[in-house]
Amino acid sequence: MSFVESEERQALRKAVGELGKKYGYDWFNQQARTGGHTTELWLEAGKLGYLGVNLPEQYGGGGGGMADLSIVLEELGVAGCPLLMMVVSPSICGTVIARFGTDEQKQRWLPGLADGTTIMAFAITEPDAGSNSHQITTTARRTEDGWSLSGRKVFISGLDVAQAVLVVGRTEDAKTGKLKPALFIVPVDAPGVEYQQIEMDLISPDKQFALFLDDVRLPGEALVGSEDAALMQLFAGLNPERIMASAFAIGIARHALGKATAYVKERQVWKTPIGAHQGLAHPLAQIKIELELARLMLQKAAALYDSGDDLAAGEAANMAKYAAGEVAVRATDQAVQSLGGNGMTKEYGVASLVAAARATRIAPVSREMILNFVAQHSLGLPKSY
Ligand SMILES: Cc1cc2nc3c(=O)[nH]c(=O)nc-3n(C[C@H](O)[C@H](O)[C@H](O)COP(=O)(O)OP(=O)(O)OC[C@H]3O[C@@H](n4cnc5c(N)ncnc54)[C@H](O)[C@@H]3O)c2cc1C
Repeated sequence: MSFVESEERQALRKAVGELGKKYGYDWFNQQARTGGHTTELWLEAGKLGYLGVNLPEQYGGGGGGMADLSIVLEELGVAGCPLLMMVVSPSICGTVIARFGTDEQKQRWLPGLADGTTIMAFAITEPDAGSNSHQITTTARRTEDGWSLSGRKVFISGLDVAQAVLVVGRTEDAKTGKLKPALFIVPVDAPGVEYQQIEMDLISPDKQFALFLDDVRLPGEALVGSEDAALMQLFAGLNPERIMASAFAIGIARHALGKATAYVKERQVWKTPIGAHQGLAHPLAQIKIELELARLMLQKAAALYDSGDDLAAGEAANMAKYAAGEVAVRATDQAVQSLGGNGMTKEYGVASLVAAARATRIAPVSREMILNFVAQHSLGLPKSY
């Protein structure tokens, strides 16, 4: 086991960091505040091979793994450009299709996901099921030549920039009881698909939507993999989601810590820079330690996932996501505190990070559901719900 990142990965970090700096937080924030998108950066990252770094070479990807893709998202976040759709498009959707899709599905979708010209959203959350995915009711009915899909989803990110959405439903013959999910690729412009933006109190260029599926007719080949093994397929996609959500949170935390540290080194209101006061220095030092711990867990989760150990990766990915969400919340809050009044200004751009960091405690899986997982699966405690 090595704690030293390979030269290749260090080079990837550096190159992605340079790309991120070319755009930077001011640009990203401007897109968010004006209803703009991050398409320019997204496409450039795709063209340079960063978005598809985890996807098979045969389909236009880089042939790497989640460890590589998480580096890309983390470093873009450090530069102030956390691209939320990376948590979804190349990671969950790309992974599920690459691992379980047919050759035709791989040919059709992976090259575009890899170079960024195709974006695929992911829809599992439902208004009446929430954290309890076993209760989802989006149902696929067999038709003569394929499927008819009906249901409702909420908080689906990026439907306005996506060409398709990977929908988690269940087949009619598995309508109730324990979730036996079936995964469908649904073009967002298919008849019967409608979506409506949910006004969020988040300053982000990535928007969330309510998705309505009303008798959406799909060809047989819209189903990804087998309807019988889909729970395993779903988990294979959710581990990358958690690994990438950790990278998203850690990127934001490092960005906030960087801004706070730079500020307290310069700002002087007594005889020394305010960073000399332990009231500010210690919380920042604690955050640095917690950040490094969360990153180690992220790297472990990614390494386990890339080695093919889905089960161990599941536990590590949950723990990494927990730790990353917690440190992101602490780092952004302490950044605001460190900057005093400037912490609340648009110019310094730290208060605007708080809600994004806060969301990483809720999505894609909440802090409480991770604690439930660890209590039950890691500690063997009884289930209370
Ligand atoms: C910015 C953002 C982007 C998102 N993007 C997507 C997306 O692209 N695709 C998608 O499918 N979803 C997306 N989501 C949805 C997200 O995954 C859900 O919000 C999340 O899983 C929580 O579900 P919920 O909101 O229904 O909360 P609920 O399930 O209603 O939970 C509310 C609270 O109760 C707690 N709780 C619930 N059950 C228990 C229990 N048994 N024990 C202890 N506590 C419990 C939860 O932890 C939470 O704190 C997004 C959400 C946000 C905020």
